[in-house]
Amino acid sequence: MAKDPVCGMNVDERTAKFKSEYKGKFYYFCSGHCKETFDKNPAKYAGGHM
Ligand SMILES: [Zn+2]
Repeated sequence: MAKDPVCGMNVDERTAKFKSEYKGKFYYFCSGHCKETFDKNPAKYAGGHM
């Protein structure tokens, strides 16, 4: 399971429809809305408490 960095939900990376790459790492999202939020300001969410 991956974690949606925007809302904190668990996302299955095998079935996730929404993902973004940032600095060589993939992030998965529960919805297009979370992906959009991330894409607008990836540094804020990729900050890294994983
Ligand atoms: Zn989400």
